Amino acid sequence: MQQILDDIAAQMALETELGQVADYIPQLAHVDPNQFGISVATPDGQVYAAGDASTLFSIQSISKVFTLTIGLGKLGNTLWSHVGREPSGDPFNSITILEYESGRPRNPFINAGAIAVVDAIMMGHEPREILGEILQFVHFVADDDSIRFDHRVAASEMAHRDRNAALAHFMKSFGHLKHEVNKVLGVYFHQCSIAMSCQQLARAGLFLVSNGVNQHTGIRVINPQRSKRINSLMMMCGHYDGSGEFAYRVGLPGKSGVGGGILTIAPGKGSIAVWSPGLDPVGNSKLGLKALELLVEKTGWSVFSD
Ligand code: GLN
Repeated sequence: MQQILDDIAAQMALETELGQVADYIPQLAHVDPNQFGISVATPDGQVYAAGDASTLFSIQSISKVFTLTIGLGKLGNTLWSHVGREPSGDPFNSITILEYESGRPRNPFINAGAIAVVDAIMMGHEPREILGEILQFVHFVADDDSIRFDHRVAASEMAHRDRNAALAHFMKSFGHLKHEVNKVLGVYFHQCSIAMSCQQLARAGLFLVSNGVNQHTGIRVINPQRSKRINSLMMMCGHYDGSGEFAYRVGLPGKSGVGGGILTIAPGKGSIAVWSPGLDPVGNSKLGLKALELLVEKTGWSVFSD
């Protein structure tokens, strides 16, 4: 595995078409696109890494996997009255489908859906309490208490919140949000601002590799059925309108973020985190996708191969 990751990192270093960094969040526009990291955590206790795998980056929408897990833990199946579980086929920040579906977002991984999940898990609590809970959960699954919010990124998103605020107000007009829009957005932007390295993120995904158990700590995080279902959602909706392309090229459940990270789960085999800040036109890491395609080719880890 180490050799495979070293080879992929060497190959990615030769790439010249890096894609665009997400400059609609000014704080992310400063990130150097010439970076690439990859890490794989396997159930037998190993963490392999290559390239810039220990550099911290903004996990952005990858955090939606963690808040979905928290939401299912708190509300169980009631969560599905707040958000659907169908792929949207639309960009991550699209508002159009909300109108046709009475303000109920299609899935928990588009922005509207993730905002609705935050509203659902707030349950009358103050943003500070919920943020503490989210960070504690990330510490627990990654087995690493050093992980922090990047308050500058959160503030940058809050200052440029018009699109997400529009989504939230639109949902609220249908009665889908219970809390004050700015409080919900404050939590949402902070969860997106969590800074992690590929190595930390690979570890954090382990619970989805082994039916809900983090095999490095031996602790059960969720039950097997829930783990399977979160993986299904990642497969179908984890890359927005690029989900079909990701399934076609990689064949694994994955969740991307506009910080350039992708968390990918190979059930029973390993948790893979890749990061390269340059994005393709639908907002997914360009080199990240290429690297995962290579990894799956070399390991045969696609869920569609035997
Ligand atoms: N925080 C980002 C936003 O709300 C998350 C988007 C993403 O990573 N796709 O726009």
